[in-house]
Amino acid sequence: MMTRLWRMTVNWLAGRRRGLRHVQRLEARHAWEGEQGFRLLAEHSGDMVCRLAMDGRQLYVSPAAHRIIGCPPHALVGRSILDTAVPEDRAALRLALARLLGRETAEASATYRAARPDGGVVWLEASLGALRAEASGAPLGLVAIIRDISDRKAEEVRLADLARRDELTGLANRRGLEEALPRAWHACASSGRPLSVLLLDVDRFKAFNDCHGHPRGDECLRAVAATVAATVRRRRDLACRYGGEEFLVVLPEVGAVEAEAVAERLRAAVEALALPHGGFPQAGAVVTASIGVATVQPEAGSAAALATLLSAADQALYEAKRGGRNRVAMAPREAEVVLPGGKRVAA
Ligand code: GH3
Ligand code: MG
Ligand code: MG
Repeated sequence: MMTRLWRMTVNWLAGRRRGLRHVQRLEARHAWEGEQGFRLLAEHSGDMVCRLAMDGRQLYVSPAAHRIIGCPPHALVGRSILDTAVPEDRAALRLALARLLGRETAEASATYRAARPDGGVVWLEASLGALRAEASGAPLGLVAIIRDISDRKAEEVRLADLARRDELTGLANRRGLEEALPRAWHACASSGRPLSVLLLDVDRFKAFNDCHGHPRGDECLRAVAATVAATVRRRRDLACRYGGEEFLVVLPEVGAVEAEAVAERLRAAVEALALPHGGFPQAGAVVTASIGVATVQPEAGSAAALATLLSAADQALYEAKRGGRNRVAMAPREAEVVLPGGKRVAA
């Protein structure tokens, strides 16, 4: 049986692009078969190679386990491969095992995290193959090749983060907002606390560009963005570049009174940057911004009302502009905007 296991393992590994050359080298040098050959292959591999019983119990674990998950192989033998995954990720491994056992496929893979004894967490990708008797198809066991993909995952996270950031200012972009805003909505619906948004628009910015040129306009936007970020410092708050010279701030669990105070601090901080405007007779001496504020008590299942909240902030911003700019305006308390959930905007 070991001869067949070894042969099937070699064939299966040889089918994997990355293992191919290694396997071929070993095969050329050694005509060994059976357990000895399997061990040789496994012990030379930079990946963790395991032989498993059909229920996922580890019968053999190669030495790479020490480096990859910080456990000596003997500490893993006899334990299920499922035990190496953090609880939240066990379902992925369990599914891969079930697909192999159910003969849905001859190979399956799973991506999961393992907690190292030193407190670190590694991302792993397990490629699992079922070994079956050629004649009867009876299960002989499983082989797993487990690779550390932490670097790849870190790169994925970095790229995903980049895709949610505005290049010019480093703040979240619209995509980041579209993901964060429903989360904030649900968090507030669960806690029963209000959600506030601030919509800031730089005053007479077209004239600023006309006077100083686009590159200086970009510098100005970066300075305003840094001020927005510095004013909004709680971890759950989100500052995003909403459009050209517009910024949106999301303040979960903040009511209208507090939101108005934050908006006023932000408005004053932009003015205090004292960036000479210089572009327009009607513009002030320095760059200023107008801010519209809207607040709502979110309810579960009414996330579609988010658009109404943003539109209320936009209306308030329009009022701030109409009122002379460089000011904060609240969404109307009297003319309440009624949301589908039955709640009014502006508490
Ligand atoms: P208001 O006070 O009513 O907001 O006047 P405004 O001039 O700021 O408004 P308007 O919408 O007419 O002009 C916005 C300007 O913002 C026009 C556009 O050229 C400029 N802008 C948008 N995105 C950028 C950018 O990335 N860099 C620079 N430098 N300018 C930008
Ligand atoms: Mg604008
Ligand atoms: Mg503007």
